[in-house]
Amino acid sequence: MMSKTPVSWDQEADVIVIGYGFAGATAAITAHDAGAKVILLEKAPEAHKGGNSRVSANLVFWPDDIDKAKLYFEALAGPFMDDISPEMVQVWASEMHANRAWLEGLGMTPAEIPYIEFPEAAGSDCVHVLLNGEGPMGGERLWHVIEAAVAARSIDIGYETPAIRLVKEGKTIAGVIAESGGRQIAIKANRAVILTCGGFENNQKMIRNYVDGLADAYPVGTPYNTGDGIRMGIEVGAELWHMNNVSGPLLSFKAPDIPVAQWLNLPHGKSFLFVAKDGTRFTMEGDPCFTGDLHGKVKRHGTWGQQVLPVPIHMIFDETYRKSGHIGRATADWDASHGKLYDWSDDNLREVEKGWIKTSDTIGGLAKLIDIDPAALEASVAQFDRFAEAGHDGAWERSADHMAPLATPPFYAMELTPAFVNTQGGPRRNQNAEVIGVDGDPIPRLYSAGELGSIYSFLYQGGGNIGECFAFGRIAGRNAAHETSSLRAAPTLSLVAS
Ligand SMILES: Cc1cc2nc3c(=O)[nH]c(=O)nc-3n(C[C@H](O)[C@H](O)[C@H](O)COP(=O)(O)OP(=O)(O)OC[C@H]3O[C@@H](n4cnc5c(N)ncnc54)[C@H](O)[C@@H]3O)c2cc1C
Repeated sequence: MMSKTPVSWDQEADVIVIGYGFAGATAAITAHDAGAKVILLEKAPEAHKGGNSRVSANLVFWPDDIDKAKLYFEALAGPFMDDISPEMVQVWASEMHANRAWLEGLGMTPAEIPYIEFPEAAGSDCVHVLLNGEGPMGGERLWHVIEAAVAARSIDIGYETPAIRLVKEGKTIAGVIAESGGRQIAIKANRAVILTCGGFENNQKMIRNYVDGLADAYPVGTPYNTGDGIRMGIEVGAELWHMNNVSGPLLSFKAPDIPVAQWLNLPHGKSFLFVAKDGTRFTMEGDPCFTGDLHGKVKRHGTWGQQVLPVPIHMIFDETYRKSGHIGRATADWDASHGKLYDWSDDNLREVEKGWIKTSDTIGGLAKLIDIDPAALEASVAQFDRFAEAGHDGAWERSADHMAPLATPPFYAMELTPAFVNTQGGPRRNQNAEVIGVDGDPIPRLYSAGELGSIYSFLYQGGGNIGECFAFGRIAGRNAAHETSSLRAAPTLSLVAS
């Protein structure tokens, strides 16, 4: 409910940045280097800092040609291009191009992996995907570069200090109300506030509202991204965009009491399939889940569209598969930064004992345990076995090299859960990284960057989110720092909501 509450300011800064991932770090570094006093507010405790950025694969899409980058962007946006201005695309392309030099200046040593997701699209030969140094993806190697750059500057960071509201004076954003140590604090922004607090991967209500066909889905990254920037943006009149564009859903396992979903570790065995509630297969099971799925988009009948999952979904396998290696990946990406959340057993027996994996000596018995018609499941498994023996998947064209009959009892069933790598939606921003109101005008002194209100509206090139964090983080930080210093002297003000 909207109400006016008089408060006095507890702290002040020139620029307040909300959320410490790549976007927030970049905005904070840039605003600081432009002469602003910066406060960075982070909801997570220090041990869990870094958001999705830290636990990501740390890949950056770097276009080597600005004009080709624009073509590639427009080809990927396709029919969802209409609300993205040419100025915005121009700025995106040129700042994405500028990322490499900026990152090298901070100490990155770019190495490349071949990863053009849509080679058939116009301009695709501009795509380079960079990581920091040679080696496997992830490992926080780029995060460490950015984290060190933040630490080298006098940027105040408030951990466990979630922003809960933006403060408005008239139309202008004047500060932030945050929670710290069990109480609310009011922080004055003399120049501007920058929202960089990520998406809504861990907000079930927003998922139901904004993503078609999913009742429940979970993050494979940080659990702290709960759509706070969307709620705060709505409260001050922001227009939303790209809310239904998500990287996912992919299929994962969500254990009770563990806040994030676990990647599946599928490639080690062959005798498994996925079935829907009616007992039928619905996809070419692959690694990590479906072959041909590019960040949640699939080509059907010649057209790219959103991956749709017929939940509830179960993975069915036999004793040979059970023994062939751990199915859950123990949230590997979280291990280094957040402590081991769960240690998945190598033979999957601990998870059978926990009841996460159901077992029966017969396929029909297994079907009853998971509330599927036994005859339907028996028919699907029998058909899968025939395809595996024949060396050809007549239903979904899964490679026969990755199929084997479910020949050895007992049999197992594990329920799979839709999960997101990240969401793209949030308050709309323009080429200046200003947040745009429902009236079409920028909301004065409010900026944003990162996956919160990302530019990506449809198909997505891997590395694009992190590239955009740096691109628009710099724009937001620069423009926020260059706002004129507030002349307000009064110690009281109005909150937009309480
Ligand atoms: C496993 C995984 C792999 C990925 N790999 C890649 C990749 O290789 N390349 C790529 O481009 N993209 C990748 N992505 C996506 C990419 O990592 C993210 O989209 C991007 O890092 C988002 O950065 P951000 O700074 O916008 O948000 P985040 O890095 O998520 O940071 C947001 C921060 O805001 C904080 N926060 C939330 N609410 C509040 C609040 N109310 N107050 C204060 N703080 C708040 C959160 O705790 C978090 O620390 C991957 C994502 C995942 C999960």
